[in-house]
Amino acid sequence: MSELRKFLFDGLPVRGAIVRLTDAWQEILRRRASNAATGAYPPPVQALVGEMTAAAVLMQSGIQFEGALVLQIFGDGPVKVAVVEVQSDLRVRATCSVVGDVADDADLGDMVNQTGQGRCAITLDPTHKMPGQQPYQGVVALTSDEDRSFTRVADVLRHYMLRSEQLDTLLVLAANDEVAAGLLIQRLPVKGDANLAGQAARGEAEAPVAEDADVQGRNEHFNRIAHLASTLTRDELLSLDVETVLRRLFWEEQVMSFTPLTGESGPRFACTCSRERVGNMIRGLGVAEAESILAERGDIEVSCEFCGQQYRFDPVDAAQIFAPPGSLTPGSSSVQ
Ligand SMILES: [Zn+2]
Repeated sequence: MSELRKFLFDGLPVRGAIVRLTDAWQEILRRRASNAATGAYPPPVQALVGEMTAAAVLMQSGIQFEGALVLQIFGDGPVKVAVVEVQSDLRVRATCSVVGDVADDADLGDMVNQTGQGRCAITLDPTHKMPGQQPYQGVVALTSDEDRSFTRVADVLRHYMLRSEQLDTLLVLAANDEVAAGLLIQRLPVKGDANLAGQAARGEAEAPVAEDADVQGRNEHFNRIAHLASTLTRDELLSLDVETVLRRLFWEEQVMSFTPLTGESGPRFACTCSRERVGNMIRGLGVAEAESILAERGDIEVSCEFCGQQYRFDPVDAAQIFAPPGSLTPGSSSVQ
């Protein structure tokens, strides 16, 4: 079962989280693969979306915020947009549009940053907005300060957190066709909540960076723990359970682990699409358009852009959509 575990290091200004998505990730892949229009993700895209999904859960877990965290990569290569949305209660969905061939050995740059135009955006969209409040969004290029295209999602997000949030972060991410997993280690912000959430609440563009004498010591602890974390291989992350990873990496540290979040309180797949919503969309097309699709194809088939779920409406289903409430029994010919 999918699991998120948060942990702290006793007395140190460092926090961590580890996520292991199994059923939730497999459901995302299953829906995609069963969509006849798109088919399954090519392996490098599967890894990209899986790593983004694990990362988005980790980032959502570190902020005090009610709403959706949306992690997006806008690409200039065969992958146009990859999107992951994680609600504060850890409901997750993800999608990706692929328009060209992706080689089996394609790296991040090949997929989304061929000409340096690729972008990564993180949006915090609060559930309850104040009047006029815009969602908070930060955007970074997929290119390092030394003008090299990043080859891994973890490096993009580390760059993002440092540049956009002034937070030292280390991420290890990995995904295959069964597991999407990630480890996050972050230096605690100097004051208050995580900068990301603080900014969303206050609408500030910049958070202050502490310059006091304390900083050196704080960095030392973070650097040591981040170094330990960076020794975790992707194979280990995919194959070992959470407990084993923590014990293996941090056996010399005083780790204070929170209760694992699993099941209904843990990360789980959920899409907001439904047959009813799709029906409303078809109603919006108008009866003439719907009938012309029915005449041409025999039924109306719509798939959710976000999760790939397909919804099929035969002529009887379609007639019900356009019937005035309570006026029609299935199969009636009163709809023109
Ligand atoms: Zn959906």
